[in-house]
Amino acid sequence: MADFMKVAKAKIDASASNLNALSQEIWSHPELNFNEHHAHEVLTDFLEKEGFNVERHFVLETAFRATFGSDNAGPNICVICEYDALPDIGHACGHNLIAECGVAAGLGIKAALEASGNKYGKVTVLGTPAEEGGGGKRLLIKANAFTGIAVAMMAHPYRYNVPRPIALSMTTVIIKFQGKASHASAAPWDGNNALDAAVMCYQAISNMRQQIKPTCRVHGIFTNGGAAPNIIPEEAELTYYLRAIDEGELSVLKRKVRACAEGAAKAAECQLQVKTESSWANVITNCILVTIYETHARSLGYQWEEHSMSFGSTDFGETSYKVPGIHPMFCITDRANIHMREFTAATGGVQNQHYICQLNHQ
Ligand SMILES: [Zn+2]
Ligand SMILES: [Zn+2]
Repeated sequence: MADFMKVAKAKIDASASNLNALSQEIWSHPELNFNEHHAHEVLTDFLEKEGFNVERHFVLETAFRATFGSDNAGPNICVICEYDALPDIGHACGHNLIAECGVAAGLGIKAALEASGNKYGKVTVLGTPAEEGGGGKRLLIKANAFTGIAVAMMAHPYRYNVPRPIALSMTTVIIKFQGKASHASAAPWDGNNALDAAVMCYQAISNMRQQIKPTCRVHGIFTNGGAAPNIIPEEAELTYYLRAIDEGELSVLKRKVRACAEGAAKAAECQLQVKTESSWANVITNCILVTIYETHARSLGYQWEEHSMSFGSTDFGETSYKVPGIHPMFCITDRANIHMREFTAATGGVQNQHYICQLNHQ
């Protein structure tokens, strides 16, 4: 087994500059969810040249599947690429580096399989678009893309090295208040102010934060606040993301938020509609897989600031409910968090050999 590790590492090291060029190319052409056409093209071209059997536009226009090995020889190991960017701030989540890591792992596993005489199984590099809000992995799961997969792995750039990050269950809640329009000066008493209801709701949720668990997150924005100052707003809307450690805690949070909305609606004499959209499951980290990952990563010089740390939510949560998986985070900068412009700079400037951040950095 140790020899196969050496073979895999040697292949990845030998490919380092090509891999880096690949992620830089994706970084230079940031594309939003479901529109990652350039990334799809460069990744599939690269994998095809490396001898993978590539299925372009697999299930989704910008998804792909690249495989090597035999179905019957052993387990089918899946490594995942993400490659979508964020609006305005480019690759501030570093999905170009997730793509690079997925391809690198795929190359390494393929080299090890070849060294074994193709006796041990199969590797699948799966291109999963639209992590940022689109839920590409859920669509791929629905289309049975993970059928036959033994384990699924990916790695995400971050501010810290975290092998077992906590990715929270999440749901989007849209809170709509329906009031009654009236002239705001001539006859304000004839109106019911939906914006007032929304403001009270926002404030009530802010106060409610004191009574939620430290692992919960509630954050929202006003998505409709009325049409003109001289019209009592007849409609107002808030959009919230609710996050919790698991589905059970998330349902407690939903109940509390709903109570805030109901109280606000009653106070402003408005009608209330609460809609839940696009929920994501928390990530289940497979203990056996992550222990193996930690052992090998440590042998390459990695150290952990924290073994687990909450970072947000991901559609990999859905995947981890389908097949055993890991989603470790690796440090690329100590100066910025994901979704900051400074992180965009780091995801474009980092070289492969610099992935490992030292603990004693300034
Ligand atoms: Zn992100
Ligand atoms: Zn991300």
